[in-house]
Amino acid sequence: MSGITVYKDKCVGCSLCVKGCPFTAITLVDKKAVIDLDKCTLCGSCVEACRKFGAIEIVRETTKTPDIEKYKGIWIFAEQRKGVVQSVAYELLGKAREMADKLNTEVAAVLLGHNVQDKAQDLIHRGADKVYVVDNPKLEHLLDEPYARIVSNLIRKHRPEIMLCPATSAGRSVISRVAVQLRVGLTADCTELDVDITDRSLLQTRPAFGGNIMATILSKNHRPQLATVRHKVMKEATIDPSRKGTVEVVTFDPSFFLSRTKVLKVVDEVTATVNITEADVIVSGGRAMGGAENFKMLEDLAKVLNGSVGASRAAIDEGWMPYSQQVGQTGKTVCPKIYIACGISGQIQHLVGMQSSDIIIAINRDPSAPIFNVANYGIVGDVFQIVPLLTKRFKEVL
Ligand SMILES: Cc1cc2nc3c(=O)[nH]c(=O)nc-3n(C[C@H](O)[C@H](O)[C@H](O)COP(=O)(O)OP(=O)(O)OC[C@H]3O[C@@H](n4cnc5c(N)ncnc54)[C@H](O)[C@@H]3O)c2cc1C
Repeated sequence: MSGITVYKDKCVGCSLCVKGCPFTAITLVDKKAVIDLDKCTLCGSCVEACRKFGAIEIVRETTKTPDIEKYKGIWIFAEQRKGVVQSVAYELLGKAREMADKLNTEVAAVLLGHNVQDKAQDLIHRGADKVYVVDNPKLEHLLDEPYARIVSNLIRKHRPEIMLCPATSAGRSVISRVAVQLRVGLTADCTELDVDITDRSLLQTRPAFGGNIMATILSKNHRPQLATVRHKVMKEATIDPSRKGTVEVVTFDPSFFLSRTKVLKVVDEVTATVNITEADVIVSGGRAMGGAENFKMLEDLAKVLNGSVGASRAAIDEGWMPYSQQVGQTGKTVCPKIYIACGISGQIQHLVGMQSSDIIIAINRDPSAPIFNVANYGIVGDVFQIVPLLTKRFKEVL
């Protein structure tokens, strides 16, 4: 059992642990540290803070997946909707292929659905060496229980070392159940992934502590290593029609398809505004815009470029644009061909939502604004002068 102990004889009541605890789980009672176990996550910050006195100790239970070295290969969950493989699956394949080449291993995709077998070749053309297809009318719509049961069963049988899943509602609900069934960890919403070839660990980077730091999470003792990745964070794998791979159609006993829920009706969401996640060009405005009326200027530029308008959270919080247009950690992740950031400083929470755009153009009057660190083109100047000039010039040229 894991646990934390405060050795009262060594505790001097210095309060370093209280200050060092990010979860406010420690208080001093009679000049001795007392830990609230409901709040404590065993993160170890207090042990570090108390290193001089050695009054706090954490004992961690270490379990390990048996035969861990036998787990090989990288899998992706190929999400489909209405029989169409979602582009996020191709994004996962791009990253999986890159990491598999480093580890000198294979990439496999898991495709569940009804009448989806013919889509397996698309996954091979995008980098999969193998596709496991489970095609059954009971899998036409996403149902967490059978989907998770089947994925877990395939994993137990074939033992991949890594499985990537889209951080969509479907992906999240399936893979979290898989993690529980396999008793392994899961890192949600990764923004960067890489592998350490020395011990084949998956380096899973994601925002932590309210987005104030980027944490890289490792799961050294368990396999498979499960991670979800947001749509549009990774680049889609390119299509290579000459790629060859194998397709294994797997059948399951009827008990695998049992579910306590059933889909009554699927209703498509209809939105009046352009979905920024699909736009090729995004003109985004930040706090510098100063008011809702000034976004008209960005709309004019977006219109000339056949694009859409986005915004930083600062602008959304001011009520200048609807939340649907927010780019960033708590908004949407976008990956347009061109992203024009107008009067946006470039805080990490904004960058995680747009830094994989093909070309980033930043306009900011502060030459040291962090947005220029990710920009391909930077214009130091006043948005209110630059944007109308750009609109005028693009109108002339296009
Ligand atoms: C948990 C959490 C989640 C968050 N999620 C998001 C998120 O999803 N998306 C997001 O965007 N933020 C998010 N944030 C907020 C983020 O930290 C920043 O506060 C926000 O991105 C700042 O927005 P901004 O760049 O528009 O404003 P500011 O940081 O105020 O920057 C304004 C910039 O405009 C420049 N400027 C001012 N006037 C002009 C002018 N006339 N011409 C040119 N440049 C000018 C300034 O030099 C400055 O660089 C989150 C924060 C937290 C803690």
